[in-house]
Amino acid sequence: MTEDKLLYTGKAKNVYQAENDDEVLIVYKDQATALNGKKKEHLPGKGTLDCQISALVFDYLIKNGIKTHLVKNISDHEQLVKKTTVFPLEVVLRNITSGSLVRKFQIEEGQHLAEPIIEFYYKSDALDDPFINESQIHALGVADKTELEYIKQMTVKVNDLLVPFFAQSDFDLVDFKLEFGKINNEIILVDEFSPDNCRIWDKTSHHSMDKDVFRKHEADLVETYRQVLQRLTTR
Ligand code: 5GP
Repeated sequence: MTEDKLLYTGKAKNVYQAENDDEVLIVYKDQATALNGKKKEHLPGKGTLDCQISALVFDYLIKNGIKTHLVKNISDHEQLVKKTTVFPLEVVLRNITSGSLVRKFQIEEGQHLAEPIIEFYYKSDALDDPFINESQIHALGVADKTELEYIKQMTVKVNDLLVPFFAQSDFDLVDFKLEFGKINNEIILVDEFSPDNCRIWDKTSHHSMDKDVFRKHEADLVETYRQVLQRLTTR
């Protein structure tokens, strides 16, 4: 892949223009970041694990009727995807209390919520992804009411599919972050689904099997992700 085709370089991925104008190639990097990029490490093997886990999850979602940007898995660290206009929104769904929710409200971690919580964050590294509510989303033109309703419905559907998907491998799906894009007037799921953007806990030990092991220095990230991939593929 030549550098002149590089469209965007992110914290965990590079995005290149593909041969077809309406497609791009995502190349996963061997890099882990936390605290909005303030903590950064080169971790050989991470990119292929993220890509393979995300490919498994996206393939499962597609088989179950979720429209996504994925066109084709090209290699163990590259995916061909549709080019979309991405909403500058991070959509977080929580099933179990953890992370920023626990810090913000000083509540106990690990409580199963009666109903999932959906939260929105405005995607901006410069602003540290601030919390944004629904009326702000509409008023600032980030998404209109119909678009946001559809995004919420899709997020709940993804959760309904992924809770049993991870449970089959003895994981609790604690929370996750999704992103959405628009193409030809259709809203589809974009980005990735890997332990970088979700929390999964072992059902028995309740140990984290996601990026929290890196954020909290609890365990080796690459080894943890390798175990996640193995448990998702051998069941
Ligand atoms: P929290 O708000 O508790 O920090 O995060 C909730 C969930 O969303 C976690 O699964 C976390 O990994 C994911 N998440 C939140 N913000 C980001 C982000 O900027 N990038 C990624 N990759 N995931 C995020």
